[in-house]
Order: sequence, then structure tokens, then C-alpha cells
Amino acid sequence: MHGNEYAGAQALASILANPPSPPYGRLSLIFLNLDAYAAFDLRRPSQCRYIEEDMNRLWMPELIRSEHTSLEMRRVRELVPVIDTVDVLLDLHSMTWPSATLLLTSMAERNLVMASALAHGQPTPLQVVLDQGHPTGTRLIDYKRFSDPVGTARACLLEAGQHWTRSAVVQSETTARVFLAQNGMLPKEPASSGTPRQHGAAPPATTEASHPGVCAMVTDCVEAHTAGFAFLRPFTGGEIIKHAGTLIAVDGMDEIRTPYDNCMLVIPNLRPRRGHTAVRLARIL
Ligand SMILES: [Zn+2]
Repeated sequence: MHGNEYAGAQALASILANPPSPPYGRLSLIFLNLDAYAAFDLRRPSQCRYIEEDMNRLWMPELIRSEHTSLEMRRVRELVPVIDTVDVLLDLHSMTWPSATLLLTSMAERNLVMASALAHGQPTPLQVVLDQGHPTGTRLIDYKRFSDPVGTARACLLEAGQHWTRSAVVQSETTARVFLAQNGMLPKEPASSGTPRQHGAAPPATTEASHPGVCAMVTDCVEAHTAGFAFLRPFTGGEIIKHAGTLIAVDGMDEIRTPYDNCMLVIPNLRPRRGHTAVRLARIL
């Protein structure tokens, strides 16, 4: 989906090296933004998230039917006929700053059920975060087919860890294989003897502070209003701040404090630009 988040592409390449033969249905492994991936440049690794616009903000039927055009929009139109046949979908991503691995889902209950099963089917359970979507556009997991309250198709998004780390690659493949196994596309294996170590890399580290398996719902989106936005310290995504009213950041004259006890910090952006999301706050369920 994002050209500079190559962990997902590597996971698919590894699965394709020895392709599973599903006993029923159809398995599609889709490299979404090929042009952005082709533009990846080690000297400027952050710059090819997309070519013209963020492909993960375009999944809206009205927009897809409109005259709006861009390189990413054309690719979305190419893929929609396939996406419209999908029963279960896993979208693979990684993050700019250090964070616990997490699964994001939209609010439809069937997605939460699927994400929870996927989170707990792994060697180390993943965090699950529910949110209402993105204010600047519709993500693939929020596409009507997956988020419609009366539908049956399900989707969730993996944030596999920090960009360009070995552990994000390992995590992407581990989660993809558990996802395939849980949907009958691979023979089921016990989680502990799965495939996460086949690269000879250690599984992603878990610490007391990373709260594996916790499920939380996003309640607030903190936007940086000034160029002077600064966190009190470099928080790690998935950290849980114990007490309501704890100061976590300053933004010009404003103080940003946690609104309730046990507040989870979701994907903090440690250097947000003005007008961009600095962090999302989530309540533990
Ligand atoms: Zn991404």
C-alpha cells in the first residue's frame, strides 16, 4: 500500500516463493502501489510512501466513480473488481516511529472478532486498536464492503513495527501466515512452531511496557496546532499512561494531558508537522 513500507512486500514475496494451494476459494496476494515501491530510494526512504497521493485514503465508492484522477487512483480502479470479491483481507503496513505491533480495525464487530483471533493466534499476542477511520480519506479496511454494519466481508490492518527493520519483515510474514492458516488457506500449525524464525531473526521483542494482547478503542485524535508541538519524552506506540491528567506534550501554549486512566498512545508521531496528527488516544476495552 505504501511504497516505503516494504516489509509487507517481502512477506508476500516469501509466501509466493513456495505458494500455498488453497483447498477452496481464491487467494490473492496483491502488491498495491507498485510505482511507489519502484521509486524507493535508500537515500530518501521516507519519500515514496506514494507518488501522487496516499493510496490508503481513496477507498470510497463515490470517489472511485468520480472524475478524480491520479496514479494511485488509477491503480485503485484497477484493483476494485478484485477487492469486491474479497471475503477476508489483511493489509500490511509498518510505522515511522518505534511502536508495539498492532492490528487496526474499523468499528464493525465482525472485524474486531477477526482481529482478536488473529492477534491471539501469534507467538506473542498483538495489540488490537479499533478506530472510526481516517479524517482525511477512506482506508482500504474502511471500504464499504468491509465496514458496512450489515455486510459479512472482514478486514484488518497490520502495523508490523518500525519501517525498515528486520523485525517488521518477520512480523509481517508471521501474521500473514497465521491469517492464511486461520482462513483455511494453509495447513494449521501451532502458533509456537510456526514460521516466524525462518529468517534466522529473533521474533520482535516484547517488554513489560508493550502490553501484548490488549484491545483498545481510539477516542481522540491529537493534532499539532503549532510547529512547536513537542512530546515530554519519546513515547513508544502502544504505551499505556496510567493516570488521567498526565502531561504528555505541549503545543504552543497548550498542554496535552491524558483524558482518562490507562490511556493508550497509538502511533505517536514524534515530529508532527503543523496540522498533522501527533498521536491518537485509546481507551482499553
Ligand atoms: Zn502504511
